[in-house]
Amino acid sequence: MAYDRSNVFARILSGELPCERVYEDQHALAFRDINPLAPVHVLVIPKGEYASMDDFSRDAPPAVIAGFFRAVGETARRLEVAESGYRFLANTGPDGNQEVMHFHVHIFAGAPLGRMLKKIEAS
Ligand code: 5GP
Repeated sequence: MAYDRSNVFARILSGELPCERVYEDQHALAFRDINPLAPVHVLVIPKGEYASMDDFSRDAPPAVIAGFFRAVGETARRLEVAESGYRFLANTGPDGNQEVMHFHVHIFAGAPLGRMLKKIEAS
């Protein structure tokens, strides 16, 4: 998928828009979601131009993929939720309800999160 450089996370990465940063390294930036759905709700984004998990998993070099997922784990440790636990997920594409087309992982934590999903019937 073509990457749109005007997406909101690209503008956060460039510094054009503010964010509440919780972790940053050469591979990733982590910041609090503007509309939190759990007591802790943080987004982790790679610094490269990847629109989705599909693009990232196909096009990113192995060291970039490894560095990004290390940053997700490091973010959880910095948030002090690694022991209590957390969930991370990446909404992908239309059925996944992805709204911002810069690959990102959500980290949810800070309370028991319940089962993963309600059951979804085929449409
Ligand atoms: P998704 O694309 O996975 O459906 O979700 C995008 C997420 O980005 C949403 O949870 C939304 O609240 C968050 N979001 C959208 N715009 C901004 C923004 O400008 N700043 C921050 N911190 N989060 C945002």
